[in-house]
Amino acid sequence: MCDGVLESHSSVVDNDMSTNAENKSVPSIRSTIASTRKPLVMSTNGVNELLVCPVCSSLMYPPIHQCPNGHTLCSNCKARVQNRCPTCRHELGNIRCLALEKVAESLNLPCRYNGLGCHDILPYYSKFNHEQHCRFRPYNCPYAGSECSVTGDIPTLVAHLKDDHKVDMHDGCTFNHRYVKSNPQEVENATWMLTVFNCFGRQFCLHFEAFQLGMAPVYMAFLRFLGDEDEAKKFSYSLEVGGNSRKLMWQGNPRSIRDSHRKVRDSEDGLIIQRNLALYFSGGDRQELKLRVTGCIWKEQ
Ligand SMILES: [Zn+2]
Ligand SMILES: [Zn+2]
Ligand SMILES: [Zn+2]
Ligand SMILES: [Zn+2]
Repeated sequence: MCDGVLESHSSVVDNDMSTNAENKSVPSIRSTIASTRKPLVMSTNGVNELLVCPVCSSLMYPPIHQCPNGHTLCSNCKARVQNRCPTCRHELGNIRCLALEKVAESLNLPCRYNGLGCHDILPYYSKFNHEQHCRFRPYNCPYAGSECSVTGDIPTLVAHLKDDHKVDMHDGCTFNHRYVKSNPQEVENATWMLTVFNCFGRQFCLHFEAFQLGMAPVYMAFLRFLGDEDEAKKFSYSLEVGGNSRKLMWQGNPRSIRDSHRKVRDSEDGLIIQRNLALYFSGGDRQELKLRVTGCIWKEQ
């Protein structure tokens, strides 16, 4: 008798579970409908072209101006053309082109990094802001110490660092580097050194530089990740430098190359070695800088 009750009880539980399973499938159907709904994109290129400033060729944002003859121009250009329409030379005045501002409001446009993999379609007025932060936007060359204007995706930059900056490339997650400098007093003139490591299928650059921190000349070593910040956080690294039975250690997360080497340096996010200590580590007569920096990179779980 008791067994029978137990059995029927368990069958009720079974029913409950199957009801739950059906309920769970509902949201997934909904999300499929949502993702297949196409956003409204203006395909007429003519409308987009109307929003390109005829003077500077950038997209116009309110206030959009026009001359009495209807020639449009952006607010940046309006400030520069000394009240003359660049197209017909007529006096400009202060006429807003409200119709065009309204047209812009109704537009949805693809992100400008569409070709680099971003498939986002954006309302005209939020497009600019999105593009400033789009994760597909190209990276700047991470090479420090020279003004390099090369931008691109990571594989492009890795090839560029190797071919154009002759940067050392290393495979592996541990490193052991020697930095030797015969005139350590010349902090300002110290050369920038950069080494790229390939590990976990990604690239990291190790910077070593000398600079003046307040009144004190220091050396600094830090790691940057060739990728975005959310990924950089998944890695950790440690650095060690020492000599004469003394040792200095640093542990941290690599910084994304979205942060300039200057920004990382100024935030002191790395191993900082006072020159006096560096010379002590170097041994000898303190006339030459001889540092051995070892370290490793690992992935956080
Ligand atoms: Zn313009
Ligand atoms: Zn005009
Ligand atoms: Zn984008
Ligand atoms: Zn470069």
